[in-house]
Amino acid sequence: MKDQFHRVHDYLRISLTDSCNFRCSYCMPEENISCMPQKHLMQVEEIESIAKTFVKLGVNKIRLTGGEPLVRKGADQIIKTLAQLPVELSLTTNGVYVDKFIDTFKQAGIRSLNVSIDSLQPSRFFQLTKRAVLDKVWNNILLLQKEGFHVKLNVVAMKGINEDEILDFIQLTQKHPLHVRFIEFMPFSGNKWEYQKVIKAQEMLQLVKDSYDFIKLRDEKHATAKKYKLYNAPGTFAFITTMSAPFCVDCNRMRITADGKMKNCLFGKEETDLLGALRKGEKLEHLIQNSLNRKHAFMGGQFNKELKNTQATTIENRSMVKIGG
Ligand code: SAM
Ligand code: SF4
Repeated sequence: MKDQFHRVHDYLRISLTDSCNFRCSYCMPEENISCMPQKHLMQVEEIESIAKTFVKLGVNKIRLTGGEPLVRKGADQIIKTLAQLPVELSLTTNGVYVDKFIDTFKQAGIRSLNVSIDSLQPSRFFQLTKRAVLDKVWNNILLLQKEGFHVKLNVVAMKGINEDEILDFIQLTQKHPLHVRFIEFMPFSGNKWEYQKVIKAQEMLQLVKDSYDFIKLRDEKHATAKKYKLYNAPGTFAFITTMSAPFCVDCNRMRITADGKMKNCLFGKEETDLLGALRKGEKLEHLIQNSLNRKHAFMGGQFNKELKNTQATTIENRSMVKIGG
């Protein structure tokens, strides 16, 4: 499936729920945190049907996300159902329920998971998530590692919040075969984003350069992360440069929100109601292609090319927790 800029789209991210057991303020606004009613959410067969249509149109990779995908009722069944499709299936999670799903992941043939962890300090972890479960998350990361999964750690880097832990995360890659990815802080509805809070990848790289020798690794096709490795380290580190060096030119991603709306871009305001159409018995193929035909060249058509001129309050979008990261 191509858009008007000839970008091939073969990667779908499906949000299973807009609810979450954490309260990360960069993702979930403090006000208006009510969740969608159950009947607005895609049901298992609907997720399967929508995913199958995307696969027919060329999707070969699906990532489940949320909200927290593992708090979704029936997550187990959804994962096993989607595992039947000819796709590489993976998941992004805050890690709390990972131990309960290890067998499901194995049965579904999932080999790689992203676990989010923004601090290695219990009090700061609590401050960021409003949940005192750092130990639980860390033990689940070790469990995944022990069980042979490829584990990527997502760290949202924010000035004045966790920048003093960047080197601590880098050090983890010396001890463990973990793949740390620092994500530049992105603006979404209600998350109080400011340019001053973004730590650009170049700044983080400079910090690492001041302390360690490292090498640049080859980045995979369509990769959003620029990968590096300390000498002789079992793990790697990477930067997701959404804000300082967006990767729109090579974008292959589409998204479905938990209520079945297709979004062409994380930052776009346009949505196409696939679930509504499915429930009316309509065919989805042309709706999907029509949506993709309207995909903007750059950052959902809402951003200034100069990062520091970005006005977060003028961007029309959902909050991250309701999009599905
Ligand atoms: N609950 C799961 C988790 O936390 O991994 C999956 C959903 S979460 C929305 C997906 C990813 O988006 C997480 O790695 C999270 O840290 C990241 N994220 C959320 N808000 C963000 C923001 N404003 N800027 C950058 N990354 C963000
Ligand atoms: Fe929940 Fe993940 Fe958002 Fe944190 S980042 S509030 S864990 S969905």
